[in-house]
Amino acid sequence: MGEFELIKRYFTRQARNTALGIGDDCALLQPATGTQLAISCDMLVEGRHFLSTVDPFKLGHKALAVNLSDLAACGAKPLAFTLALALPRADEAWLAPFSQGLFALADAHGCELIGGDTTQGPLNICITVFGEVPVVNGRSQALLRSGAQAGDDLYVSGTLGDARLALEVFRGSVSVPTALFEAARLRMEQPTPRVALGLALRSIATAAIDVSDGLLGDLGHILQQSGVGATVNADTAATLVAARACQTKTDGRLTTAISPAQWRDWALAGGDDYELLFTAPVSKRQAVAMVALASQTPVTRIGQIDLERGLRLVDDQGQAVPNIYTSFDHFA
Ligand code: ADP
Ligand code: MG
Repeated sequence: MGEFELIKRYFTRQARNTALGIGDDCALLQPATGTQLAISCDMLVEGRHFLSTVDPFKLGHKALAVNLSDLAACGAKPLAFTLALALPRADEAWLAPFSQGLFALADAHGCELIGGDTTQGPLNICITVFGEVPVVNGRSQALLRSGAQAGDDLYVSGTLGDARLALEVFRGSVSVPTALFEAARLRMEQPTPRVALGLALRSIATAAIDVSDGLLGDLGHILQQSGVGATVNADTAATLVAARACQTKTDGRLTTAISPAQWRDWALAGGDDYELLFTAPVSKRQAVAMVALASQTPVTRIGQIDLERGLRLVDDQGQAVPNIYTSFDHFA
């Protein structure tokens, strides 16, 4: 199977929403009148972002999911994406499930593959997504990192730390019961981009980011770009590790030796969560609860934005918790 046969067989489908899809030198996109294009690009490298043994269907899902998560963080509606793929060989047993996983998620979000590039080389998947954000009275409705205001509530969607737990099991640094591992592994391999929530937050949130490098590290970007500080309840964050709930299911007894501090660390700095971290005025609490319900995405208030710069961690008793956390950095 040659390059063009490969593209045709696994990645070319009938163009739907776009003006021109795969097959020419450029694809053509037609954003709706009164909208801006939101664009984001994420690369997944074997050995760095995923293990070589990962199920290709799940990898197809994740490669697009991490990109859709960026659109969600900006409140952008997914439109289309391109796929640049370096493959060691044209392996049909890999390509078929990879493209199925990719298109299953793409179809769920009405996001169309409109082009890409295919070369031979070490496995590397680079997706660029295009989304749409309305412009109202000359103002973009995109959610940015820079809009947090002192006094705002700080929220995070879904669960935290489970992907990190799964990674640590793969690394052999912890051992947990199978049910707990499987739940965590699903979060690591098939994260859920919070697209519906992101769209609904456009008129509610003051700032947003998706959590990819760890909660506190990504919060740091909001704080820096908004010129504010924050107080985060570390105990509340620790309750958001979903695997913790599985843990107690075996007749109420703890089935792992994972310490409370360990859960907390994974929640605050685990990484690979792809949840939305956002701020909203206190007056919008009910609106936040309603969009969480409507988008079927749990949302938890974990702290608040302060005028005083810097990040303060507290526990349930209001006592200071030392901030020892660093976020993931490829070159650190
Ligand atoms: P060019 O040489 O003009 O850059 P290519 O020969 O690389 O174009 O690709 C031919 C067509 O196939 C283009 O429309 C390109 O966007 C598309 N394409 C190439 N690789 C992929 C891929 N992995 N997924 C989707 N479309 C692809
Ligand atoms: Mg060309």
